[in-house]
Amino acid sequence: MRAPSLSILALLAACSPAAPVESAPVAIKPGPAAVYYETTLAGAPKLILPLACEPGVTCELQNGIDRDPGPDAQDYRCGRHTYQAHNGVDIRLKDLAAQRAGVAVLAPAAGTVTGIRDSMADISVKAPGAPDVSRQMCGNGVAINHGGGWTSQYCHMALGSILVRPGQVVSAGQPLGRVGLSGNTEYPHLHMTIWKDGVVSDPFAPQGDPQACDPDANPGGLWIRSVGQALGYKRGVALNTGFAGDSLDNLKLEEAQVPPPGPTTPALLAYVRLLNLEGGDEIELTLSGPDGKILTTARQPPLDRAKAQYLVFSGRKTPAGGWPAGTYSARYKVIRGGTDAVAGAFSYSIK
Ligand SMILES: [Zn+2]
Repeated sequence: MRAPSLSILALLAACSPAAPVESAPVAIKPGPAAVYYETTLAGAPKLILPLACEPGVTCELQNGIDRDPGPDAQDYRCGRHTYQAHNGVDIRLKDLAAQRAGVAVLAPAAGTVTGIRDSMADISVKAPGAPDVSRQMCGNGVAINHGGGWTSQYCHMALGSILVRPGQVVSAGQPLGRVGLSGNTEYPHLHMTIWKDGVVSDPFAPQGDPQACDPDANPGGLWIRSVGQALGYKRGVALNTGFAGDSLDNLKLEEAQVPPPGPTTPALLAYVRLLNLEGGDEIELTLSGPDGKILTTARQPPLDRAKAQYLVFSGRKTPAGGWPAGTYSARYKVIRGGTDAVAGAFSYSIK
């Protein structure tokens, strides 16, 4: 067994950005989304959530492990919630404001710290003047030996936030530091890789045929049941919803710089940013006024391929005289195979 060292911290765990992760549609065997079993693998660690966040509310699973040994990318359910050669799981925050406010990275199981790095700037790889991180893609991180051949690593942590030192024994849930923006990343997330005897293990499916694609044949994951269910396998989920008073894009959304709407802002827009959509999905977003009448409906043509993240907005320029006071509401849905696969609603009051 070889424990992760700083050199492994440097070379493994590459997190490509979320936005460019696109791929052709594939057949996905959905299975029952809510069912999750804990592994019965003897000696395997039982993992709690490695972040102080609430999946489905303040964080979401963005990418899993690429189980395809070839040039294609495929997650453990044979979907596209991954990208080529991704060797861990990415749990993302809603935006950089959440990251700057501070979200703790937690040891998901007890162990001994075997390596740390805490020297790299928190800067998106897409930012002007961003440093070359090709040899230090993990960024600031922590490596832990859990015993029994199980080791793990946590990446992209905030500069100056690491709370542990090599040789230190940690317990499950103990803070290791905070989520940052260091290494090969352009959005706030934690990358976690776990190994068994030096081989990457998928915490959602450490056993069984990685190409089986059958959730009923999955003998279970390393997460404890509540975490496995919360992270789940969501074939499309809304990460951000809201209203804006002017144009917006993913960058503004990530930077939490969405212009708030008001009676006389240039426009009134409703937006939703969805994760892990599939080829063929159609997204519809409807904005209604205080009187309940529909102001606009945006209906996207079917997606030509899977989308790791996708921003849709619908709205109008502000009329002469401004927007009347009242509560404006928006509804979104993802139509897949003729049914509403994902749906939700949100509202905003103009005073
Ligand atoms: Zn990653």
